[in-house]
Amino acid sequence: MSDDRIFSDSRSVSALLKQIKEVARGIPATVTFMEVCGTHTHAIGAAGLRRLLPEKIRLVSGPGCPVCVTPVGFLDRAEALAALPETVICTFGDLYRVPSSRGSLERAAAEGCSIQIVYSPRDALEIAAQHPQKRVIFLAVGFETTTPGIVATLAEAEERQLRNFMILPGNKIIPPALEALADDPELRLHGFILPGHVSVITGSDFYSFLASRFHLPAVVTGFTPADILRCVLELCRQVAEGEAKVVNHYGRVVTAKGNGVAQDLVKRYMEPADADWRGLGPIPGSGLALRKEWVHRDALEIPVPLPKTKEPEGCRCGDVLKGLIDPPECHLFNKGCSPDHPVGACMVSSEGSCAAWHRHERRVS
Ligand code: SF4
Repeated sequence: MSDDRIFSDSRSVSALLKQIKEVARGIPATVTFMEVCGTHTHAIGAAGLRRLLPEKIRLVSGPGCPVCVTPVGFLDRAEALAALPETVICTFGDLYRVPSSRGSLERAAAEGCSIQIVYSPRDALEIAAQHPQKRVIFLAVGFETTTPGIVATLAEAEERQLRNFMILPGNKIIPPALEALADDPELRLHGFILPGHVSVITGSDFYSFLASRFHLPAVVTGFTPADILRCVLELCRQVAEGEAKVVNHYGRVVTAKGNGVAQDLVKRYMEPADADWRGLGPIPGSGLALRKEWVHRDALEIPVPLPKTKEPEGCRCGDVLKGLIDPPECHLFNKGCSPDHPVGACMVSSEGSCAAWHRHERRVS
């Protein structure tokens, strides 16, 4: 059997489920493992893994969707920038419909603001090249996975001397958020399913603090059902044996040290900064700000009037993003809040927990 088949073969899945059930017998009480990657959330839902695991193993979603954790204030600023003359805002599609204090980027576009949906920061750069008389601002959100592509675009803008291209920095770093979650006594987590894509850049060594400081097991893994179950098995085994180690089960793409070229490129343009996360609040050192020498690319430098920030009424995205509740525990879930009529960010984004539960797990809610 080829390597790839091992990770998706149904016999592997059945065998892993059997092993998990056996190991779980040695665990005295319910354990909670958090996945911190929106793609894992969807993969778990699509394969129905929650229903297949023993009841004492609870999988909760964390702040793994970059759009979901982007605070309302960022969207308010983007809308205010979009209202400026000769300014074009470029954004990934998911951010377009996320509710802000006044409406959304979608509503701002309907009111006449120039907002374009793009598939990559490079698309935004091309718009800047085609419209030199306009200021083109790319809404830079995302975790370690997307940041290298954004800074590569900044490098290209410098090379091509496209002075009218800027970004609104909103990028975030996952480890400080993991630290905040691990340190939160309300959450009582027993282990982490670590993000596969982010870890390609950071490497698996980056998470060693989870074991050394918090005595929490953590496993980097991929996205097939067998990948996720191997990870759950490893977490259960460590809990049952009282161990806490960071293990890389995604060795086919993740190394211990990650992608040094991408890390160096990001360091050249950005530096760690405090950042506000929807649901988690401010976390020191969890964001990225443009370094001073690139200030001419920084849309945060443009003064704009901002409204008082307002979260959508009744929305419990904050509790969903901390794994405190499953999406159906929000009283608006599927009753006023759906992907067609989203009230909160977690229902908008394709990587959001509420959208994942709406799509895959409504029958068991
Ligand atoms: S169901 Fe809707 S309103 Fe409730 S937490 Fe999710 S996104 Fe927010």
